Amino acid sequence: MISLDEAREHVLARVAPLGPVELVLDEALGAVTAAEVVATEAVPPFVNSAMDGYAVRSADTVGAPVELKVVGMIAAGAAPDGSVGPGEAIRIMTGAPMPGGADAVVLVERTRTEGDVVTIEITVEPGTSLRGVGEDVRPGDVVVAPGTVLTPGHLGVLASVGVERVAVHRRPRVGVLSTGDELVTSGPLGRGQIRDSNRPTLLALVREAGFEAVDLGVVGDDEASVTTAIEQAVASCDAVLTSGGVSMGDLDYVKVVLDRIGEMRWMQIAIKPAKPFAFGTVGEVPVFGLPGNPVSSMVSFELFARPALRRMAGRSDLHRLTVPAVAPDGLRRSADGKVHFARVVATQEAHGWSVRSAGGQGSHQLAAMAAANALAVLADGNGVAAGDTVPTMLLGFG
Ligand code: AMP
Ligand code: MG
Repeated sequence: MISLDEAREHVLARVAPLGPVELVLDEALGAVTAAEVVATEAVPPFVNSAMDGYAVRSADTVGAPVELKVVGMIAAGAAPDGSVGPGEAIRIMTGAPMPGGADAVVLVERTRTEGDVVTIEITVEPGTSLRGVGEDVRPGDVVVAPGTVLTPGHLGVLASVGVERVAVHRRPRVGVLSTGDELVTSGPLGRGQIRDSNRPTLLALVREAGFEAVDLGVVGDDEASVTTAIEQAVASCDAVLTSGGVSMGDLDYVKVVLDRIGEMRWMQIAIKPAKPFAFGTVGEVPVFGLPGNPVSSMVSFELFARPALRRMAGRSDLHRLTVPAVAPDGLRRSADGKVHFARVVATQEAHGWSVRSAGGQGSHQLAAMAAANALAVLADGNGVAAGDTVPTMLLGFG
């Protein structure tokens, strides 16, 4: 058996960020920038009012209350015209350009108006309630650095400086293939048959991670079919996930085929679940031979495929957030030379995170995995006693 770290390093060393593509902002949420974006415009582009109020000469407000003559009104979107002379004020709305002559805005709540006379109740400094040119972004500012995972806020900043398209790493297109003669996709079960649950699970995991998922169906346990399926998969995808066919069975052809048509390493990793794993590259395309047991395939995806796919997408934050959590009931295990990933429900409590078993811990017990929102990482040994703290990988974060 090899360590989890060794297996991960092996995989991550063999994947690289995909080349850049240009996307319109509307399609770029979650994508990773491939180059820096430099602003060529200032935001705000002109001096404008931060408040609804009156544009004034601040010197006129000394000794407030003072009365000023209202000589006009400027709305947001209006082209600035007119100017404020001594003893005058112009009604102004938030975001409207400042008129000439005025150097401050008095918010409307501190004024009273009667006819065309406004009483200003406070004395204001020059610059009060103004937003200056470039206070948010100046021309030449790097608004987005390379390697940025684009959030809604970033898309807004890009839009604010007039950027309509952005260069990002291509999102991996990930094929998902189930293998096994026992698998059926619908209808009644015959003798010895089970339903294919890995494919819908893995397709959803790929999508949830932000990548494009391609359903490659189910293939039986014969070498020729597995060969054809993987060859077709690598021709149209950036990465391929298979499940099943990588353990010690006589009909475990995925590892046989990957060995023949690609550069493959078959691993027995000191973890439970998800001990067997085959990782190969066929041409340039990484193929993740995930184990068949439903919980194992999910855990293997989390530990190996998801970080690697994130690297391909240009991300440098590859792993799930791991936090210390208290196990109020303990989490017991027996020593076997492996690190165990216990399916747990993590909850946030006053002191921080707590974790409790999510149910049956067998690698075929998908219901408990579905109920879990975290994996408690139990080092080799007897597990943790009630009240002890255990590192916990949160599946919903990062
Ligand atoms: P294998 O690694 O192919 O020997 O599969 C290990 C176990 O996982 C067996 O019990 C398989 O029936 C089961 N299994 C394999 N593929 C799937 C799948 N797509 N959906 C549900 N169970 C599966
Ligand atoms: Mg099988």
